Amino acid sequence: MNPADWHLPDRLARLGDLAYNLWWSWHPEARALFKGVDRTRWKTGNHNPVRLIKETLPERWQQLAKDAAFLRHYDAVISAFDAYLSDQHTWYRTAYPEKREPIAYFSAEFGVHNSLPIYSGGLGILAGDHCKAASDLGLPLIGVGFMYPQGYVHQKVGIEGWQQNIYDHIDWKVAPVEPVLRPNGERMVLNVSLGSWSLYLSVFQVICGRIKLYLMDTNVEGNTPADREVSGRLYGGDQTTRLRQEIVLGMGGVRVLRELGIEPAVMHINEGHAAFAFLERLRELVAGGQSFSAALEALQTQAVFTTHTPVPAGHDVFPESLILDYFRDYWKQLGIAEDEFLELGRFGEREGWNMTALAMRLAGRRNGVSQRHGEVSRAMWNSLWPDRREEQVPVAHVTNGVHLATWVNQSMSNLLNRYLGPQWLAKQDDPRLWAKIDDIPDNELWAVHQYCRRELINLVRQKVRRRWMEDRVDPSQVLAGGALLDPEALTIGFARRFASYKRAGLIFSDIERLRKLLLDPWRPVQILFAGKSHPADDVGKALIQQVYHLAKDPSLGGHIAFIEDYDMHVARYFVQGCDLWLNNPLPPLEACGTSGQKAAVNGVPNLSILDGWWVEGYSHHNGWAISEGAQLASDHRDAEDAESLYTLLEEKIVPLFYEHDLHDAPQGWLEVMRESIKTVAPVFCANRMVKDYTREMYLPGVAKEPERMAGARR
Ligand SMILES: *Cc1c(COP(=O)(O)O)cnc(C)c1O
Repeated sequence: MNPADWHLPDRLARLGDLAYNLWWSWHPEARALFKGVDRTRWKTGNHNPVRLIKETLPERWQQLAKDAAFLRHYDAVISAFDAYLSDQHTWYRTAYPEKREPIAYFSAEFGVHNSLPIYSGGLGILAGDHCKAASDLGLPLIGVGFMYPQGYVHQKVGIEGWQQNIYDHIDWKVAPVEPVLRPNGERMVLNVSLGSWSLYLSVFQVICGRIKLYLMDTNVEGNTPADREVSGRLYGGDQTTRLRQEIVLGMGGVRVLRELGIEPAVMHINEGHAAFAFLERLRELVAGGQSFSAALEALQTQAVFTTHTPVPAGHDVFPESLILDYFRDYWKQLGIAEDEFLELGRFGEREGWNMTALAMRLAGRRNGVSQRHGEVSRAMWNSLWPDRREEQVPVAHVTNGVHLATWVNQSMSNLLNRYLGPQWLAKQDDPRLWAKIDDIPDNELWAVHQYCRRELINLVRQKVRRRWMEDRVDPSQVLAGGALLDPEALTIGFARRFASYKRAGLIFSDIERLRKLLLDPWRPVQILFAGKSHPADDVGKALIQQVYHLAKDPSLGGHIAFIEDYDMHVARYFVQGCDLWLNNPLPPLEACGTSGQKAAVNGVPNLSILDGWWVEGYSHHNGWAISEGAQLASDHRDAEDAESLYTLLEEKIVPLFYEHDLHDAPQGWLEVMRESIKTVAPVFCANRMVKDYTREMYLPGVAKEPERMAGARR
């Protein structure tokens, strides 16, 4: 890929391929190569290689084409890239050489890298990590999702602490996406019609290692102005827009695959947004001559559904009348009656069409995202299987994991190369490998961690400096943004979406007690907060405001900071550079939580409620559990949890952190850091997760021979 307006010399021509394959984003040598082209442009251009190449001037390229060191680096990266793409010995190829059929993975968001802003939070980043690990393992996965051309939300916080939403339009010329063309060179444009509504969509592709993501865009000529906006923003718009989005994601997604000639053996939908994909597959099977019940059985071999939230508001429910507007007559194509059709989306007492219930009914294999969430989901969806006891409800679990190459700090990664061997990433899910963490000398591990903390504080200062210079914000906002942070103090991180069940304000339950902790002259503590709230969520915004007011409060001395615009870039610095990762959601509402896993693999221990993944991850030696042994549901949870949180900090955590030996390394703390890496990395890594999905959820749908699909279309 080398657009005409680029000035790349022939000797460096492959930089174009590299820029359009997000493989570069999880390979540090490739990132360093782009950075070497122009450090300043790299940084100011949001680490986007397409932009970097487009904007670099011919003179600079001529220089680089004669720079022996740069050329050596270039050749090494290109040969690693080619070796990755042509590797015939990946895990999947080796373990299942006869299984070649693709797996289609539908998700409303994909968080692969900052330069492709089509994610909002944990769900999207999980999808990105899933794709990267699938690529690393050689799994024939294909992503299906949306391009959101006009709406990544950036966050700024005003002087009164209120979140302002700044919508950023995608710059097509520098996005790492390419339009999908037909064989005759025309743009691929497809039609989705339902009842009297009809819409066109175009398709873009993103390359992520060995994997492709197909992203749909509805800003297409021939659509009404309202329909052009359907894919405009992630989770934007009213109920009708939202329903149209989900129709496009599910039904449009299946049609895109068909148009590309892709016959997936498995359709995995990540959260209920894409559940119409199953309905569309059913329609195809019935159109192919099967009865509804035979078609449902065939669909279920293929259909995998992952649910991600036990919070009721997290499930889409549409009024039946709205569903009828669009699906009028659709049931005839399925060979069922209107009421049978509506029954597919009904759930419990609540009126309406529930997308999660639809997905639960149509999928053949279903899962929650942690052991605890599996249990919670079985209870929650029990009424769909009224003759089964709770523990027999067919919803399993696959615990989430994080893509280590994306989230482990590079200096830490270099240390692991030395002590675990250069193959550690390939063997990441082998616990024996991680025992060698004990071989890393205290001073080396501590030096790397302190470097990460300083990098975090530097990033925070850089961000507020820019706000001060560019936006002329009030000095109090510069202080609230972290200007007074101490690069040596015990640094607690709390960063995630500001949703009320996450209880960001819990640690403020007793300000006097907190003040004592923070301002101890010999053992100071500071807390860094970050996170956006949904643009329509005023409760979440009020929580941000509470934190912001305290960050501005002179009596807390700048020991609390709120860092604006949390995204993948800021998240990397946070999970690598804090000393302690705090998480205190109201149980059992945290389905899994992945930021704590990202922190743990960097040697940042968790201080967390026993909910989500921490129920499985906590070993008593690798971090701390808030309110261990508490009742799940209790009227006094907030008070109990706050008490436990303060006590742990006062009696265990702060003393351990500041107990330094003669060489200035806190030995006891380093033990917890080691335990954290050792116990979390092999189990909560994305390779383990994708292997589990493959064995438990995908392979039962993948035939030995591809003939099963024959004759089962349209
Ligand atoms: C990992 C991550 C999340 C998810 O964090 P949780 O702890 O699962 O809530 C959200 N946002 C960003 C930017 C992340 O990197």
